[in-house]
Amino acid sequence: MTDEADLTALLRRRIALEGPITVAAFMAEALGHPRFGYYMRQDPLGRSGDFITAPEISQMFGELVGLWCANMWQAMGSPSRVRLVELGPGRGTLMADALRATRRVPGFHAAVELHLVETSPALRERQRSTLSGEDLPPRHWHGSFADVPDGPMVLVANEFFDALPVHQLQRGDRHWHERLVDFADGKFRLVVSPHPSPLAALLGPRFADAPAGSIAEVCPAALSLAGSIAARLVEGDGAALIVDYGPSRSGPGETLQALRHHAAHEVLADPGAADLTAHVDFEALARAAVQAGAAAHGPVPQGVFLARLGIEARMQVLLRGATEAQRQAVVSGGRRLIEPAQMGTLFKALALTHPDLPVPEGFAA
Ligand code: SAH
Repeated sequence: MTDEADLTALLRRRIALEGPITVAAFMAEALGHPRFGYYMRQDPLGRSGDFITAPEISQMFGELVGLWCANMWQAMGSPSRVRLVELGPGRGTLMADALRATRRVPGFHAAVELHLVETSPALRERQRSTLSGEDLPPRHWHGSFADVPDGPMVLVANEFFDALPVHQLQRGDRHWHERLVDFADGKFRLVVSPHPSPLAALLGPRFADAPAGSIAEVCPAALSLAGSIAARLVEGDGAALIVDYGPSRSGPGETLQALRHHAAHEVLADPGAADLTAHVDFEALARAAVQAGAAAHGPVPQGVFLARLGIEARMQVLLRGATEAQRQAVVSGGRRLIEPAQMGTLFKALALTHPDLPVPEGFAA
């Protein structure tokens, strides 16, 4: 029994018993602890929350992604049953916009079964209310992708992979050593393991010449998830769209960051109180998917991807008959999604598909 009632106390105790823990273990607890984890506590999204995401910025994002999904379903030969899967649906906004935009795609809604993968009880509630309505396809919630049934699927994940726990390695004179989180002098602090880390085997070729002192982040959870998504696509047919932030190519660098109320926060201070994310290594995800037999397309910058999907035309449609205030919201939302200085370049889209499917919309130059 313990009467310690916050995550700092629990992690301190764990470190006292086991010794320093990995950055990934710290991140996993800070985000996912069933009682004190950041995502377990409340809805962190939106203007009044800690961060805001593309579907919350503009309805055009979910609409275009929805049409992309319907398009992939048609490329698959319009199977009579398809699982539309979303990982980490947040408030359910992307999916609601996607479904509205695809209502008139012949046969699509009749084929769709929704599978939403969400661990947060608060956000599940929110998704249930956003996605209520008689005319919507049947909905199912799961705690993990592994619980989604097999079969043809189209999967989307926006700002999901950045929340998966990363390990940090630091280059010594000859080897990579894992950074660990210790507790001393009243706070969490980073230490470096004296032993070479076996996780160095997961680093791609671009890390080979990194100088001493370089930091590398590896996310085994993301690699194994990309591998299992790919294996499902190969077996059951389908496609996956992963949108997140990170560079096109792998490379050394420290990107783990904490955000609270839209401002940077110290990563190790106050676990559970701030969102923790790290850049997604798209090159590593693509490699894991290709090893599992899928085809990988991209990553392409979000601005380029949305332009190819026709965001300009969609914007024109929304502007017709809009009030001045609505016009401003449509235009500023659209700009925010595509402009290089905003989300247009840092965010990327990566598609994984069954190898026999054509190059997905938005990925052909
Ligand atoms: N896709 C949404 C929300 C992004 S925030 C949007 O674009 O607005 C990340 C989402 O992933 C939240 O819904 C969070 O609760 C969920 N999440 C985080 N880690 C998860 C995990 N390991 N398994 C399932 N869901 C997770």
